[in-house]
Amino acid sequence: RSKENGRGQFSFFSIDMNCKVAVQRQMTEGMRNSLAAGEFYLEYQPRFDARGRHIRSAEALVRWAHPERGRISPAEFIPLAEQNGLIVPLGDWIMRTACETATHWHGIGVSVNVSPVQFRDADFVQKVRDCLEETGLEPSLLELEVTEGILLEDADRAISLLKELKKVGVTLAMDDFGTGYSSLSYLRNFPFDVIKIDRSFVSDLDRKESARPIVQAILGLGRALGISVTAEGVETNEQLAILTADHCNEVQGFLLARPLRAEQVAELLQEMPELAVRNRPQRLAS
Ligand code: C2E
Ligand code: MG
Ligand code: MG
Ligand code: MG
Repeated sequence: RSKENGRGQFSFFSIDMNCKVAVQRQMTEGMRNSLAAGEFYLEYQPRFDARGRHIRSAEALVRWAHPERGRISPAEFIPLAEQNGLIVPLGDWIMRTACETATHWHGIGVSVNVSPVQFRDADFVQKVRDCLEETGLEPSLLELEVTEGILLEDADRAISLLKELKKVGVTLAMDDFGTGYSSLSYLRNFPFDVIKIDRSFVSDLDRKESARPIVQAILGLGRALGISVTAEGVETNEQLAILTADHCNEVQGFLLARPLRAEQVAELLQEMPELAVRNRPQRLAS
């Protein structure tokens, strides 16, 4: 498989299990070096209003340009970075870079994925504050995307951390909603502003009869609780049409825009200012 992908991607999962530990150790070393050498970079995938017409914000997605192996997917190296702890310095760099970048976007927000391991870091909230203060980004323009992973270990601590983050003024999103053990009580007890419907439901919308009622139920829940709903992984016009008809608040996916380099986003916003919608709304009135 790694051959088939050529220079583009390297999959260490394809390697014989016997070598796996050695390979992981090597990857860890490589990751540490790459972090120091600046071989990680961010792409930003625009998020659009319900009709897919205006950009409201963009999600930062980390990429690893490995000197020999080419581009490695975050789906491969994030889990390893979580195991070896490098997600903490990497995550700090991601958040700072994303915030700095968004200060050039004149009112378009940025969202950053936060790993449960970063969330465990006792300094996390202070780091968010410092990052906003040092980059000068308006707190409401930073959205943190977390998965239910943060809620599983110590739910009480997670609630109090999320509440502290709300006080800082950032926006909170529950990512990949509907997968894993996402529970309805999370939405009642945790101060989320946004739910992101997992791509698996969205991609089934034009393929499986059962997908639409599930998406509608999530949308209804969001509406009832005053939580904005974003659909991720929108790839077809049909999916978009269904989501628009069902009053989804925001859409994101390859149909609308692929993840782009920071300069491309800036160009897009400059060349087509009508694409941008500034001052994204906070928690909807319920
Ligand atoms: P995620 O946060 O759910 O991000 C969405 C993923 O779906 C991204 O993959 C994005 O490129 C991809 N995607 C967006 N639209 C479409 C579409 O229309 N079709 C398809 N097939 N895919 C689409 P990516 O960049 O490979 O990231 C995968 C996962 O890795 C992310 O899922 C997130 O969990 C994690 N990740 C990425 N960047 C970061 C980061 O900076 N920090 C942390 N902690 N995790 C990250
Ligand atoms: Mg995300
Ligand atoms: Mg997601
Ligand atoms: Mg995901």
